[in-house]
Amino acid sequence: MNLKDNFNQIKSQLPSHVKLIAVSKTKPVELIQEAFDSGQMEFGENYVQELCDKVSFLPLEIRWHFIGHLQSNKVKYIAPFVSLIHGVDSIKLLKEINKQAEKNNRIIDCLLQIHIASEETKFGFNKNEISSLISSGILQELKYVRIIGFMGMASNTENKDQIRSEFKQLKSVASEYPQFPELSMGMSSDYTLAVEEGSTMIRIGSLLFGSRNYS
Ligand SMILES: *Cc1c(COP(=O)(O)O)cnc(C)c1O
Repeated sequence: MNLKDNFNQIKSQLPSHVKLIAVSKTKPVELIQEAFDSGQMEFGENYVQELCDKVSFLPLEIRWHFIGHLQSNKVKYIAPFVSLIHGVDSIKLLKEINKQAEKNNRIIDCLLQIHIASEETKFGFNKNEISSLISSGILQELKYVRIIGFMGMASNTENKDQIRSEFKQLKSVASEYPQFPELSMGMSSDYTLAVEEGSTMIRIGSLLFGSRNYS
């Protein structure tokens, strides 16, 4: 496997407004370093412990994206350095991110996770919850959190029409809020559809680094 070729292969197909997040969960720091050396700056991790273990061995310039389900009691561990938290799915979590960001004297960028009805995940806000959160004024009070967009996932299915329809729904919710322009959607198996439907950030793991071994 040639890592650089894998990156170039994907990047050559991407419109310039779409950012590639390299999902490095379960992968060793040596591989992340190799990807960084070939020019990749943005990496995504799912597990707080694993991310914190890796950070100290890798260049400070790396922009770390937290893409997993984040528990409130773990925010404090990533708050000093995280670049973007993708799956913010509760007001409780937003408040905790705000608190820990303030302690670290920084503003943390976040994406609100959208949950669409057909999707398998149980995490995220539905369309109406997003609407009431945004009109509630809570976001203005949380001065150390900056919402820059939304994140969503399509169901884990082979059905391309269903995946496309789910991405369309995500885009349709997101586009009601042009003040929050980023839309993180698309993984190894479905990123081409996601980009066609308006993604601005794709989260790619196995296509870059090979399949994961969870043993
Ligand atoms: C693991 C993961 C990815 C990357 O998945 P691949 O299929 O390996 O590209 C993307 N997004 C989230 C939320 C993930 O957990």
